[in-house]
Amino acid sequence: MATHPLVDMSGVEVDATRLQTFTSAFRGAVIRDGDAEYDAARRIWNGSIDKYPGAIARCTGLADVVAAVRFARENGLLVAIRGGGHNVGGRALCDGGMVIDLSGMKGIHVDAAARRVRAQPGVLLGELDRETHVYGMAVPLGVVSKTGIAGLTLGGGVGWLARKYGLTCDNVVSFELVTADGDVRRASADEHPDLYWALRGGGGNFGVVTSFEYQLHPVSLVLGGLLIHPRESAADLLRFYRSFLQSAPDELAAYGALMYTPDGHPVAAVAVCYSGDLGEGERVLAPLRTFGSPIADLVQPIPMPVMQSLLDGAVPDGNQNYWKSAFLRELSDEAIDTILEHTNQATSPMTAVLIEQYGGAAGRVGTTDTAFAQRHAQYDLGILTQWMDPAESPRHIAWTRGFAEAMGRFASGDYLLNFLGDESDDIIRSAFGVNHPRLVEVKTKYDPDNFFKVNQNIRPAAAAGV
Ligand SMILES: Cc1cc2nc3c(=O)[nH]c(=O)nc-3n(C[C@H](O)[C@H](O)[C@H](O)COP(=O)(O)OP(=O)(O)OC[C@H]3O[C@@H](n4cnc5c(N)ncnc54)[C@H](O)[C@@H]3O)c2cc1C
Repeated sequence: MATHPLVDMSGVEVDATRLQTFTSAFRGAVIRDGDAEYDAARRIWNGSIDKYPGAIARCTGLADVVAAVRFARENGLLVAIRGGGHNVGGRALCDGGMVIDLSGMKGIHVDAAARRVRAQPGVLLGELDRETHVYGMAVPLGVVSKTGIAGLTLGGGVGWLARKYGLTCDNVVSFELVTADGDVRRASADEHPDLYWALRGGGGNFGVVTSFEYQLHPVSLVLGGLLIHPRESAADLLRFYRSFLQSAPDELAAYGALMYTPDGHPVAAVAVCYSGDLGEGERVLAPLRTFGSPIADLVQPIPMPVMQSLLDGAVPDGNQNYWKSAFLRELSDEAIDTILEHTNQATSPMTAVLIEQYGGAAGRVGTTDTAFAQRHAQYDLGILTQWMDPAESPRHIAWTRGFAEAMGRFASGDYLLNFLGDESDDIIRSAFGVNHPRLVEVKTKYDPDNFFKVNQNIRPAAAAGV
């Protein structure tokens, strides 16, 4: 008997014959405790997450997704949706219920003439970049190539091209999804516009998205890379970074980073991506590159897929992770000093602290035009704590929480949905900002029973008090 059987939400094991009928009609694999692949299939990027689903339904296409949703619904199962498995809080998995695992759905089709690309939900950022780069084009995505396009897009999607071309969700032309009733719907400006609005920032609340259609932009080579300074220069570097960015054009994205070299030396860095004319980029970046005495200037013309994987090594698969992030009202001197005071006492040398600046095109979209409400915030602080030994977890988590609390007085009270780990309902609600009431309306219309609840949840009206 399996130690972790498939159970419904009351804890009752699903009838074996019914499960067998479902499994035999399913084209993909249904992986269960006791199967050789089970442990690998329940592993996700964050090694701190250890959940035991009753079944992992590895979908091969739309029909499998429909079958999985209907079976889960008919049998009262708790359901989690797995795209790229990078949600820091582990929301790609659940205990006891069914994971609708989309990681094998990797179809990508570029229509270069129309400047559009369609991608299935198991596609990772780097995989999409690889295909679109053939045509010298790109979708604005995030900054780590192994992140899933699905969760990233549904949560907004901030990255190197956000200032020039908007968030990932701003570039979605249409979605295909399976809603809680098991029906297939399309959401675009003309079809189910309420869903189209909600899916652009409302997370995995409204259905299982089986296809994303994005608009493409002409981006091939960018001027990008890291400028690395000794940690002792961090206070001056971050102050300069702040003033330099005040007049930065939309083509430039620059993130401040406090991190460690692979051999454990603390450094301060600025990661830049200039996505316009390369000669103009050299001119724009010159003051930043000539500031102070960098240990290394690694900025050079690079293909966009290389830019998108530049930070991959800093966030490998399987480490223990605990993240906190918050938007800052402003990057004041005092805020910089507090960031440094805490970062310089980090308990783990695998930890990175990022200061990300947005604005530009992403900031010019109206707050209520899409579900993504956090359009006016300029700086997001990300405390990305990583370590390897689970026994050390309490120490690293306590350090992260202490740091986040100390930053509370500089925080705007707004949050970026995609960077939230295991947070309280209030914080998740704050991430939806002024759009929360309208998101509740759309949720109530398409998922009145809160079937999709293993996510950054928006509760439907009838269940709001539950
Ligand atoms: C190393 C790292 C780097 C990151 N960098 C960035 C970045 O640069 N920019 C940025 O914006 N974010 C970034 N993120 C955050 C990331 O976008 C979110 O964690 C996102 O949820 C990951 O998507 P996923 O498909 O990989 O995740 P999963 O864990 O598979 O899914 C997360 C949630 O998304 C929903 N979901 C996933 N697929 C579907 C689907 N097909 N249909 C409906 N709902 C679905 C579900 O609710 C699920 O619980 C990063 C995260 C990590 C760990």
